[in-house]
Amino acid sequence: MHQDSVRIEHRYLELPDSFYTRVKPTPLRDGKLVCFNHELAEIMGFHTESPEDWTAVGEGRELLEGMDPVAMKYTGHQFGVYNPELGDGRGLLLWETVGPDGQHWDWHLKGAGTTPYSRFGDGRAVLRSTVREYLCSEAMQALGIPTTRALFMISARDPVQRESIETAATLVRVAQTHIRFGHFEFAAYHEGEEALRTLIDHTIALHFPELIPVPDDDRYRLWLEEVVARTGRLIAQWQAVGFCHGVMNSDNMSIIGDTFDYGPYAFLDDFDAGHICNHSDQGGRYAYNQQPQIGFINCQYLARALAPVMDEDDLRRALRRYETAYNDSFLANMRAKLGLAIAEHDDIELIMETFNLLHEFRVDFTRFFRGLSTLPSRGEAPVRDLFVDRSVADAWLARYQTRLSRETRSDDEREAAMCRVNPKYVLRNYLAQQVIQEAQNGDYEPMQKLLKVLKRPFDEQPEHEEYAALPPDWGKHLNISCSS
Ligand code: AMP
Ligand code: MG
Repeated sequence: MHQDSVRIEHRYLELPDSFYTRVKPTPLRDGKLVCFNHELAEIMGFHTESPEDWTAVGEGRELLEGMDPVAMKYTGHQFGVYNPELGDGRGLLLWETVGPDGQHWDWHLKGAGTTPYSRFGDGRAVLRSTVREYLCSEAMQALGIPTTRALFMISARDPVQRESIETAATLVRVAQTHIRFGHFEFAAYHEGEEALRTLIDHTIALHFPELIPVPDDDRYRLWLEEVVARTGRLIAQWQAVGFCHGVMNSDNMSIIGDTFDYGPYAFLDDFDAGHICNHSDQGGRYAYNQQPQIGFINCQYLARALAPVMDEDDLRRALRRYETAYNDSFLANMRAKLGLAIAEHDDIELIMETFNLLHEFRVDFTRFFRGLSTLPSRGEAPVRDLFVDRSVADAWLARYQTRLSRETRSDDEREAAMCRVNPKYVLRNYLAQQVIQEAQNGDYEPMQKLLKVLKRPFDEQPEHEEYAALPPDWGKHLNISCSS
C-alpha cells in the first residue's frame, strides 16, 4: 500500500522498556472507513486508490509488517493534581514511517481497546469525539497552527457506554512525535536520572537535531528554552484565533509544541474572555483567558521534572523565555490581525481595548476580524452589524481609523494581508455538531464538505457563505461533553 520511497522505523522502541507495553489492538466489529486524508497520505508517501484497504488496520484486526503496537507510559498533572497512573489507555503507537521528503510520522491508533494504562476506561473512542478530533486537527493545520494530524478514521458498530450508548470509532492520528510533557514527569518521578537523560537525549536526537552539535553544558538548557518558546508561541496562536483547548493537562502538552489531544475544545463565537469549554472544568482552570498562564504552569511542571539533570539557574532562565515568546508572538499576531504593519509603542492598548470591546458586547470573534479585514472593499457594515448599539462600533472604528491613518500600506495591500491571517471559516461548535449528527446517521458527506471548506479558511469561498454565518440560537453555548 505504500510507495517504495517509504521507510519503516519505530524509534520510540529505542527507549527503555519501562516507557511502553506491547499491546495488541482489540478488534472492532464491522468497521467502515469513513474518512481518509488523501492529501496527507500523499505527503507521507502512501498510495490512496483504495483507502478501504486500511479498514482492517483501523479496526485493529490486522497489523502490517513492521507494525509493533505499544501503549506509551506517561504520567502528568491533571487539573493541577499529579496522576502517576496515566499512559495510553486507549491508543497504540503502531509504527513510524518516513516519507519521500524525509519527514517522520508516528502513527497512533486511537480507540484500539484497553491497555495496562486504561484504569477504569474501556479503551474506546466514540464516533462523536473521533469526528471532532479529525475535523479540528485538519482545521488547525489549515490555519497554520502546529497540530497532530488525522490520517483516517473508521466507524464501527460496537456500542460504547458514555452518558448514553454511542458507537465506537478509531482515528489514525499522525505526528512527528507523541512524546508529551508527561513522559518527562514519568521518567523523573518513577524511573530515575538515567532514564530521564535517555528520554531527553532521545527527544533531542530525533526532534531537535539542530541541538546535537551544541556543547553538553548548554544543550539541555537550549532545548528547554526551545520547548518553552514553542509552547508560548502555540498558545499565542490559539488566543489569536479564539481557540479554547479545554483540557490543558501536562499529559496533553506535546514536547514539540503541537496542539495535542482534541477533547471539548471550542472556537469562540460570541466572545467571552472567560469562556470555559469543558463542562467538567467547574473552576474555569482552562478558560480561554487562562490559557497563557496555564501554558506557563505546564512548562514549570516540565522544568520541575528536569531538575535532577539541570541546574536551577538554567531551568529558571529557560522558563523566562515563556513570557517573551508568548508576548512577542501574541503582539505580532494581533498587529497582523488588525492590519498594523508599523509597530507603535501603544498598539498593545488598542489590542486590549479591542478585546474588552468584544467581551463587553459579546461580539462574534471571527466575523469581527474578518469584517475589519474587508473594510476597504465592503465598508463598515459587516463590523457595525455585529453590534446591537451601532454607536459603540462607530466609536471604536473611529479610533481604529485614526491608527490606520499612520500606516503606509495601500488599502488593497492591507486587505489582502489581513485576509491571510483573519480566517473567514473556523470550526464553530455548531458546525461540528451538525456533521456529527449526520455521521451518526451514517452520512459522512456533510463532514467531507465541511472539511473541504475548513481546508481553505482564508479564502472567500462565496459558494460556502453559510459556513461563515453566525451560529443559530440552538448552536450557541453548546454544552460539549468532555466524555470521549
Ligand atoms: P484524556 O483526558 O483523553 O487526555 O485522557 C486522560 C487519560 O485517560 C489518558 O491516560 C488516556 O489514555 C485515558 N483515557 C481516556 N479515555 C479512556 C478510555 N475510554 N479508556 C481508557 N483510557 C482512557
Ligand atoms: Mg490525553
